[in-house]
Order: sequence, then structure tokens, then C-alpha cells
Amino acid sequence: MSNRERFELSGSAVIDNIIDVLDRVLAGQDRPIALHEPYFPGKEWEYVKECLDTRWVSSVGRFIERFEVELAEYLGVKRVVAVVNGTAGLHMALKLVGVERGDEVIVPAVTFVATANAVAHCDAVPHFADSEMSTLGIDPTKLSEYLAGISVMRGEECFNSMTGRRVKAVIAMHTFGHPVDIDRLVEVCERFNLILIEDAAESIGSQYKTKQTGNWGKASVFSFNGNKTLTTGGGGAIATNDEELANLAKHVTTTAKVPHPWEYRHDRIGYNYRMPNINAALGCAQLEQLDDFLRLKRSLAERYLKEYANCEGVSFFREPDFASSNYWLNALVLDEQYAHLRDVLIERGQERGYSMRPLWIPLHKLPMFQACPRMDLSIAESLSTKVVNIPSSVFLGKEHDEA
Ligand SMILES: *Cc1c(COP(=O)(O)O)cnc(C)c1O
Repeated sequence: MSNRERFELSGSAVIDNIIDVLDRVLAGQDRPIALHEPYFPGKEWEYVKECLDTRWVSSVGRFIERFEVELAEYLGVKRVVAVVNGTAGLHMALKLVGVERGDEVIVPAVTFVATANAVAHCDAVPHFADSEMSTLGIDPTKLSEYLAGISVMRGEECFNSMTGRRVKAVIAMHTFGHPVDIDRLVEVCERFNLILIEDAAESIGSQYKTKQTGNWGKASVFSFNGNKTLTTGGGGAIATNDEELANLAKHVTTTAKVPHPWEYRHDRIGYNYRMPNINAALGCAQLEQLDDFLRLKRSLAERYLKEYANCEGVSFFREPDFASSNYWLNALVLDEQYAHLRDVLIERGQERGYSMRPLWIPLHKLPMFQACPRMDLSIAESLSTKVVNIPSSVFLGKEHDEA
């Protein structure tokens, strides 16, 4: 047997061992097991039925306001404006903080495509930043050094000397619910006078130091899509401590209609981005259970962490020291030498009943973003070859939690 064959054989055994761990952690669950399924064990049915019974199913109703107030309280922010989805929320947030046609907005190369799409929806240009291994989010030190090299300040504003465009904002994304190192990123934003937006789509309930994510951005955006930790079917929210921005967000997302009992008067080009009451009803029911959900998710993550501690070829991604993560999607990081077996792992996992996914393709590799400005993205590119998500639904944590 050649060394090469021996190596392939041992690689194959390593992959099977990685999946054996899933067999142990997820024993007793029905197969196939999805990556992240919604879970409705509370008052979801009751509240949705109330919408149907009262016929308040659309963009006005008591659940919308309640959801906004309760979510703001939960996050510890002044205001929340509920919207149709996270992408629309990001689009609005960027517009409201003053991102204009032709501006550049710093976004991580490793994120869901919606982060960069929202920038493009403003006719602005995503400018891709690299990630750091310890958080999977933007590397503040690398960003700071990079900006020092390419930027010029004109008055208060930061410009990209390579493209001549204004650099207006940074979107921090909390990957899989793990907070980026926000304090360090805030320093970078202050140094270059950039506005911070948090794409907290994945991090509902996650804490950075002592506060929930969503507290640092001038505006922060959550998603309540069906695969997120808390779901409203489809939905999102803009969170902010700026009252004026919140009032404007509410106005612009409701077609910019001037309040009046019967007249249709609109004072600017608005959007139809309000969350319908029926979705907010689901959200209210889910929010009542969020702390339980987080406990279950952390219980599952702890079990994975323990079981993968001594598994060859792979490590379980752990929350950064300064954070308490919601562990939205659990992630494995393959050792460099096994990264070429990533797709084998995913395919064999699938055969054995486990839905697994690779990390997103870094966005600068997608056709519509190939020509966008970017820094060195070596960590992003390396991560994309070796990070794999494993089943993470809230209810999978149940058995361990109760045991
Ligand atoms: C889910 C998600 C979004 C978009 O949310 P939608 O509600 O699906 O529009 C944006 N950014 C990130 C990082 C996400 O994971």
C-alpha cells in the first residue's frame, strides 16, 4: 500500500469517526435530522388563531406593537421596529444612517449573501473585510491596519484613496450567533469615523460582555426567518437606541404615510416593509420561550463540545471568551490536513441522516461581487474550506437538558 493510499484510508476513518459522534449526541432523534428546524411548543397556535379570529392578520394589530416593546426590553435597547425580513431591515438601516449611492460599506467576506445584497440595494458598494479565527467575524486589527493604508480623511469623512469613494459604514456580523469583538471594532469605527451597523440576524439572545448583541450599532438588525433561533415565519427587526432613527424607520417602512384617520398622504418615497400581525403573533409566543430555547441550545452545544474534544481531525467551534453565544448553528472546523475531505464528510453525513452545510462561499467569489474592493482575505478563504455546520435545532438539546 502506498503512503497516499494509507493516508486516504485513514482520512476515511477520520470522517466516519466524526459522524459517529453525531450518532452518540443525537441518539434517539428521528432521522433525517435537519440543520435547524423551527419549534412551536408554546402559545404560537393560540396567538395565530387570535389573529384569524379577530381578522387582524396584516400590517396593523396588537401583536406587532407588543412584539416591538417586548423585544426592545429583552435586548435592552430603546426601540425596535419590526419588518418583513432581515434583508429589508438591513436595507432600511443602511439608508437611515445615511449610506448613499456610490458609498462603500465594509462587510465581512464571510457572511450570508443578504449582508452584501442590502448594501447593493442602496446602490452602494460592499468592500470586503477578512475574518478572525477566534470569532469568525471581522478582524478589527487587520481592518484598522488596512484602512490606515488605503484611506484618506477629508474633513470628517473617510475616503478610499484607491477608488475615490466615500467609506461610510461597517457592518459587523455575528457569525452563527458568536459575537465579534465589538469593543475593538467600535475603536476602529471611531478612528475612521465610520458608522457601525450590527447584522445580528443570527445572534438573538447572544451576549457580548454584559449586553445583548444589537446594542452597539447605530442600528442593528435581527432576522426571524424560519431557520433562525426565534422565528416569525419570515420577519426581521431594526433595533436602535436612537429614538429619531426609530421613528423614521417606522415611518419609511409603512409607505411613509402621514398619520390621519382616512387620508392617504405620503411625504416621501416609502417602503412596504412592516411585519404583518400574524407573524408578530408567532414572534410574541416565541419570545416568551427564548430563554428556554437558549438553555436548550447551549445544552446541545456543550454536549457537542465534550464529545468532539477528543475526536481526531476536527474541533468544535467554541464561543469567544468575552461572549455568551446563542449557538445558532453549531460548527465543526476541520484540521487543515482533512479540509480536502469536507464534501465527503457532508455527503456521508447526509447518507447517515444528518443535514450538514459548508460555510458560505466568501462573497468576493460570487459573480456579482467579484469586482468589489477587498483586503487580503486569506482567513476567510481558509475558513470556507474547512467549516461545516451540524444539526442545531432547539429541540435537539432537550434530552441532554432533561437528563
Ligand atoms: C438570515 C440572515 C440575514 C437575512 O435575513 P432574512 O430574514 O432571511 O432576510 C441577513 N444576514 C445574515 C447574516 C443572516 O444569517
